[in-house]
Amino acid sequence: MEPVIIIDVDRCVGCYMCTKACALAQCLEVSETSRIVELVRPEDCTGCKACMRACPYNCIVVLSEEEQVPIRAKLTLSRVRKYMNRKVITVNPTSRIEEAAYLMSKLNIGSLIIQEENEIKIITESDVLRAWAMKREKDRVLHFSNSAITVEGKTLVDEALNIMLNAEIGHLPVLENGSLSGMLSIRDILRASSLTFPIKERIFPINPKDKVVNYTVKVPVIKDTTISNVYMTLTENNLKACLVMENQNVGILSIRDLTSALASGKSFNERIEPRLIPPISGNEEIARAVAFMIEHNVRHLPVDRGNEFRMLSVKEIAKHAVWISKNN
Ligand code: SF4
Ligand code: SF4
Repeated sequence: MEPVIIIDVDRCVGCYMCTKACALAQCLEVSETSRIVELVRPEDCTGCKACMRACPYNCIVVLSEEEQVPIRAKLTLSRVRKYMNRKVITVNPTSRIEEAAYLMSKLNIGSLIIQEENEIKIITESDVLRAWAMKREKDRVLHFSNSAITVEGKTLVDEALNIMLNAEIGHLPVLENGSLSGMLSIRDILRASSLTFPIKERIFPINPKDKVVNYTVKVPVIKDTTISNVYMTLTENNLKACLVMENQNVGILSIRDLTSALASGKSFNERIEPRLIPPISGNEEIARAVAFMIEHNVRHLPVDRGNEFRMLSVKEIAKHAVWISKNN
């Protein structure tokens, strides 16, 4: 049985006691116009009855089954609105590609939203680099943007992750009642999975003690780090990052690094400094690698397999999570 909330609107004085009690699910709100409490997210109600107990005027009655509360709480905690970034960075449709690159680089983000009258569009680092490679960095962002795939705030995290992986995208704008309310990235999902037990159980049944090597991919290891060469290597291999070997040191170059270099005034023929990152061992536990990536805000890590270097990426870890989830 779905929980049923009955509110006595004649007695409600809009004191917020019930909304405070519903801090986890946040499904109650006091209307700014009527000053009466409303159930705004019935899908998130766990039936816990905290609101009923908190109301000093006995205005709320909750009908629910107690044994369903923990199950419904897990669902509530698995919705994308809990993990999305509420700060949505938009760019004017008439802005130029180079301005978008500068903004992405400055804010360390991989995409920008373009809001048109009836459509939400998105421009990503890959779009910016494609425009730049075509010598069209002075063009308007709108020419290289695409219609955004969106999800509702009530979408479950694992469904959102599946959408991202199937569409090969890294960001999803999140809507609430038709309006843009946040952005979700694969890294947000990874962060959620490492912080929240119910999510871990639902979409991340990866054994935290698994070896890192099981989640790595073979990627080109390059020596020529001109922006054009790195860009060609990434596009030809459909990658977001590759490994660089310099004087026996291993490093990473990603599309984020290329965007930042171009935004700072470098040209396509110039060399770019790789980020030299000490490789982690392939025998390391995946949980440690994930914690490192979240703490240092990186999406790719070089991995030492003994006889070769491979790469660990947030996307590959997420892919494994979905694969295991589907096969459970
Ligand atoms: S029953 Fe629990 S989850 Fe539902 S509205 Fe009341 S406090 Fe919120
Ligand atoms: S606690 Fe009771 S009176 Fe206060 S806002 Fe909620 S329903 Fe209304």
